[in-house]
Formats: sequence, C-alpha cells, structure tokens
Amino acid sequence: MDKLEKQKCPVCFKNILTLTEDNMEIPYFGRVFLFSMQCQDKECNYNMSDVETEEQKEPTRYTLEINSEKDMNIRVVKSSNAGVKIPQLKMSMEPGVASVGFVSNVEGILDRFKKVIEEERNSTEDEEVKDNAKKLLKKIWKVKLGEFPIKLIIEDASGNSAIISDKAKIEKLKTK
Ligand SMILES: [Zn+2]
Repeated sequence: MDKLEKQKCPVCFKNILTLTEDNMEIPYFGRVFLFSMQCQDKECNYNMSDVETEEQKEPTRYTLEINSEKDMNIRVVKSSNAGVKIPQLKMSMEPGVASVGFVSNVEGILDRFKKVIEEERNSTEDEEVKDNAKKLLKKIWKVKLGEFPIKLIIEDASGNSAIISDKAKIEKLKTK
C-alpha cells in the first residue's frame, strides 16, 4: 500500500491521520480501489476503510447459498454502503458511517460476525446472553464445515459490493 499524505483526524483533530490507497483486480468484477485511514494517536485509534469500483455499477443484491466447506473461499467485496444479512442466524451488518469496506471471502465475513458475538459474550454477565452467543458460535462453526446451510445476502445501492461466484444469484436492487 502507498502512503498518500497525512491529514487531520476527524475525531481527535490531530494531523496524524495516515491515508493508504491500494487497488486490485477482482476477476468477473473489475478493478477495485481500497482506501484506509488510520489515526496514529494511540488513545484515538480512529480507523476506517472502504472499497470502490473503478467502473460505476448498478445497485445490486447478491444472494449466496452456503452449504459446503469450499464456499468459505468465495470472494466477497463489501463496501461501506452494503447491508449484509444472514437471516438463518439473525445476523446483519448495516451500511452507514460506522460501516467499513473490505475485500475478503465468505469465511472472513463469518469471522467478523464471530468476533462481534465473542466480544458480546465476553463483556456480559447475563447467562442468557452468554448462552445465546455460545449457540450462535457453534452454528457459525457448523456453517464453516458446510453442515449448516445458510443464505448470505449482500445489498449495495452503490453497486460497490459483490459476491464472486457462479452460485451467487444477482438481482437489480430497487432504490427509492
Ligand atoms: Zn485521531
């Protein structure tokens, strides 16, 4: 990654925000630019990242059936504008300012959910919450082994997101 320049951090307002930019060619999708910003102040630690396609894309919904271990390697491009849903596990990532963009794979998406659930489990004394977290983590583990089929849905009004697989169903997303 190239370090572009140093800018003011939008959170602590110190001039120590490092911007980095990179790009990569995603087969069957095109070139995507990756941006990330990291505040060097240890107490602030602000960071954000996003992806953007070189070509303007249509608002799109991708739906992927995940039912084998091999599906973990399917590549996923998720921008900050994307909503990610796994209805069977009642899990979602919402688009918006707190959202980040990244290029990963199905396993990477599951690991992000897993991390959130683990943090929730570790920061509560509530036995019921702990118990639910434990059950959900077990399900994610089974999904990774291909033993618990789920649907992964990614909707992106900006068109900057994609699931790169022949198995993915692609629909045009209606925008209001
Ligand atoms: Zn900062």
